[in-house]
Amino acid sequence: MEYVSTRGTAPTLNFEEVLLTGLAADGGLYVPRELPRFSPGQIAAMAGMDYSRLAFEIVRPFIGGCIPDADLEQLITDCYAEFHHPAVAPLVPLETNEWVLELFHGPTLAFKDFALQLLGRLLDYLMQRRQCKVVLLGATSGDTGSAAIEGCKRCDNVDIFILHPHQRISEVQRRQMTTVPGNNIHNIAVQGNFDDCQAMVKASFAERGFLPRERSLVAVNSINWARIMAQIVYYFYAAVQFGAPVREVAFSVPTGNFGDIFAGYLSREMGLPVKQLIIATNSNDVLHRIMNTRVYARGVLQHTLSPSMDISVSSNFERLLFDLYQRDGKAIADLMQQFKSSAITLSESAMQRVRALFSSQSVNDEQTCQLIAEVYASSGYLLDPHSAIALRAARDLRRDQHSIMISLATAHPVKFPEAVARAGIDVEPALPAQLSDLYARTERFQVLPNELASVQTFINSHLTF
Ligand SMILES: *Cc1c(COP(=O)(O)O)cnc(C)c1O
Repeated sequence: MEYVSTRGTAPTLNFEEVLLTGLAADGGLYVPRELPRFSPGQIAAMAGMDYSRLAFEIVRPFIGGCIPDADLEQLITDCYAEFHHPAVAPLVPLETNEWVLELFHGPTLAFKDFALQLLGRLLDYLMQRRQCKVVLLGATSGDTGSAAIEGCKRCDNVDIFILHPHQRISEVQRRQMTTVPGNNIHNIAVQGNFDDCQAMVKASFAERGFLPRERSLVAVNSINWARIMAQIVYYFYAAVQFGAPVREVAFSVPTGNFGDIFAGYLSREMGLPVKQLIIATNSNDVLHRIMNTRVYARGVLQHTLSPSMDISVSSNFERLLFDLYQRDGKAIADLMQQFKSSAITLSESAMQRVRALFSSQSVNDEQTCQLIAEVYASSGYLLDPHSAIALRAARDLRRDQHSIMISLATAHPVKFPEAVARAGIDVEPALPAQLSDLYARTERFQVLPNELASVQTFINSHLTF
């Protein structure tokens, strides 16, 4: 399996190389040169497979022989054994033909565990084989950091450093990062905001001289190809339970960086009968505006009750653009060059193809809380704000009442108590058993000034190998 850049000029890579690479050298994102396709017979045979087995079937062609099958299967089995539900991604009915796919049974109670549990293990495996050590570095305002840390806690060949803005993330989120034991886990609380943290990470990737030369530096961000790959699996898993390849399904996806929903798009390209994909955003509606106006313009960041979707650009959207422009890297490079300084307008023919499959809606905080309250009152089911946005859009935009609509529930409501309270629900969601002692656990983190040199010195003096 070969991977090419969306901007056409960076070197072609194999899976192992792409795993260690974030942004391509030409500024683009890596995508497979050709997607694997599953025949109707192969998809029918997926019904009844357990999650790990299915994940192995879906992931194997993307690995392209970089990892022997038996090792890959073991790694995937270990990965999803960390989830606290026998189905890994259970489906819950709400109304007629309306289902919720619960993606929050992983160690940190959010869907990012699906990808980051696997990413950690893949990295560790490949580093072990190369006899190399890797430094994972990322900035987080919440979910990604804890999922990445959980994914690396048993990795002997990975040091992970996560920057978060000091006193600006929720206590649950901070504790989920800072209470994970392990010498290779390093939390840095920067006396600044999230943008400051991100700027330091970016600067460190641009100038890696602060690290010993033999260490690879890998980013924990949503553009890593392996994260998208891991997320394709649950689309297949859900659809085959409803009769794919014969019956069609639709998905509504709470979207920020366009990673999760892009995985849904790929599942369709790989043969799954996906009839409709709904882009559900919060007030950060950059994607919804593209759908309505053809214009891709940077938004002004708004802070909402669904903070994991608070973005001003949607980085993975470039991967869809690449397909829409007939995989013409030059065209994408030109568009993205223009996007640096101004808004861009997408071609009418490209937008027609997008609209045939995708619908979109932007849901504000008030509508989100209202739906949380409504669903709780009618069925006793408690949604987190991200998941509520998906369900709101699903109810408003579904094209066919007679086919199955699946809304992705990306986080457990306990992670976002503010939204639950604002919905007027006076029971506080309880922490699941495996986290019930979260508030009693010992925290470990280092507070550092908002200075690149301090952060880099800290990293350099805390490498464990
Ligand atoms: C990251 C995240 C999202 C958005 O996912 P994208 O891949 O960025 O679209 C939605 N919900 C939750 C809970 C998240 O953590």
